[in-house]
Amino acid sequence: MLVVMRHDARDQDIRAVVEAIEAMGYQAHPMPGRQRTTIGVVGNDGPVDGTRLTVLDGVRELLHVTQPYKLVSREWKSEPTVIKLPGGLTIGGDEVQVIAGPCSVEGEAQLLRAAHAVREAGATLLRAGAFKPRSSPYSFQGLGREGLKLLALARRETGLLIVTEVVDPEGMDAVAEVADIIQIGARNMQNYSLLRRAGRAGKPVLLKRGIAATIQELLLAAEYLLAEGNSDVILCERGIRSYDSQTRNLLDLSAIPTVHALSHLPIIADPSHGTGRRDMVPAMARAAVAAGADGLLVEVHPNPEQALSDGAQSLRPEQFERVMGELRPIAEAIGRRIAEPVGARR
Ligand code: PEP
Ligand code: MN
Repeated sequence: MLVVMRHDARDQDIRAVVEAIEAMGYQAHPMPGRQRTTIGVVGNDGPVDGTRLTVLDGVRELLHVTQPYKLVSREWKSEPTVIKLPGGLTIGGDEVQVIAGPCSVEGEAQLLRAAHAVREAGATLLRAGAFKPRSSPYSFQGLGREGLKLLALARRETGLLIVTEVVDPEGMDAVAEVADIIQIGARNMQNYSLLRRAGRAGKPVLLKRGIAATIQELLLAAEYLLAEGNSDVILCERGIRSYDSQTRNLLDLSAIPTVHALSHLPIIADPSHGTGRRDMVPAMARAAVAAGADGLLVEVHPNPEQALSDGAQSLRPEQFERVMGELRPIAEAIGRRIAEPVGARR
């Protein structure tokens, strides 16, 4: 439930409502807005009897949140969440961030070549996995902590911000030290202990949609992060499993406007895992920006034939550069712009 205060409500009125909510055994979340303060009530399983609150000074009305998720819902917060990243970049505002890089950190030369190439083309964040959740235990599992060190080196060399995946709660501190954004992969979307831990990690989280997750399940997974106090959450549509094997997954672009309607959180698209095919990535990247995605996650490898993971869907650097050029007018056509790397001179 939400308690909407009158625009002329005083601080003491707000405090009295917070105290009344807490006396009822719930938690109160005051959210000051431009016009008025709204106070969210959480901790209730069923409907809240608000008669004790309506009579308090400064209370305008009570609104019942009808979705099973609250903190992530548009009902709860009507303004879009704009996440501020180091260097002044934002996700969820007018800027569209392009996150790019190889699927895995494979070594220093590979990572630095990829990082320089994506930066030259205009990506703002470098993404590569040091810890890889692989479907087979016999596939390359990532370089682990050595990979994190290489990501820190790439950040120093290029100024690109780092996105990298955490696969278990034990790895959280090491990942959070290097990452500007912590990725939680599709396979871990419903790993609730990992979500709770990430909610306390003190860094923004990129949460990928599960392989067979509904949008409601994705939003409920994000609710775990917000419930732990982390509201810097970016959702990611990366394709869901379908019956057609032409593409690796079915990239659900309708999830973008759906999430924007239901939630204030930003959502980006991953056309690489969404299609699994290099030749289809540019078309779906363009389509995702046109659909209103707040960013893209694109796999790029300096030499995809030799990639240790996801080579078939990784763009070559020159292909990536071409796509970046195509995305700029599409973003502008819908009143947005592709963000520039920190310190870039174009
Ligand atoms: C990845 O981002 O490289 C990855 C493993 O993706 P997903 O979790 O979406 O399968
Ligand atoms: Mn990958």
